[in-house]
Amino acid sequence: MTRTALVTGANRGIGLEACRQLALAGLAVVLTARDPARGSRSAARLQAEGLEVSFEQLDVTELASVAACARRLADRNVEVDVLVNNAGVYPTQTFFRLDEAVMMESLQVNLLGAFRTCQAFVPGMARRGYGRVVNVSSGGGAMTEGIPGPAAYGIAKAGLNALTRVVAGAVGNHVKVNAMCPGWVRTEMGGPGAPRSAVEATDTLVWLATLPGDGPTNAFFRDRRSIPW
Ligand code: NAP
Repeated sequence: MTRTALVTGANRGIGLEACRQLALAGLAVVLTARDPARGSRSAARLQAEGLEVSFEQLDVTELASVAACARRLADRNVEVDVLVNNAGVYPTQTFFRLDEAVMMESLQVNLLGAFRTCQAFVPGMARRGYGRVVNVSSGGGAMTEGIPGPAAYGIAKAGLNALTRVVAGAVGNHVKVNAMCPGWVRTEMGGPGAPRSAVEATDTLVWLATLPGDGPTNAFFRDRRSIPW
């Protein structure tokens, strides 16, 4: 049986590579992006590689956009088995220089985006008795390390970690809900000097997206190893 994965913020960077690697692993992939032109171009690239990838427009900051995407998928009889909450922004202002608008944007994308998609897609997983949720978080939001990321980013990723635990606790063990840190990755966000490629960054992501029934849930990972929240 072919499982379907939906990836947010997938027109570039880690999200785009996640779509490629998930499709190579045999999943049907729904590549989503807020910008239809950028998103469909990226999906076409993967289709040209022979991969089973379709495109849906999805801006995670808008509830109506999430609801419309879920409706279009239901109309296509597509059931989301795997949800990868990858869309992210990285504001770097220090706390006392942080505008409320920047803080709100970080919370909207990095935290509330996953809140909306989990509310839209996890109930179906729970009903069908199978689901995998991968929240692309960051060591920058690790409470035990004192939230080392920039203020708005770290706070939102700490919130995403908290959301991971709440959603994991709200569903049965057949839906695995985990967070992961991809490391420092060469993308627009990570910059050209980062040590990791997007391919390396997606190894743990794909592993969590395809966990067996006895795999872990309610945990935070880097390089396939559990790390403290
Ligand atoms: P990236 O290259 O900047 O890509 C971010 C993606 O998120 C883009 O596709 C962007 O779309 C999308 N996005 C932003 N706002 C959105 C919205 N409202 N709705 C839907 N999509 C939206 O970053 P990346 O490095 O691939 O990061 C992916 C994830 O990994 C993020 O959650 C990030 O926090 C996490 N992470 C990255 C690193 C790193 O070193 N790169 C380290 C730790 C964690 P547009 O093209 O339309 O802007």
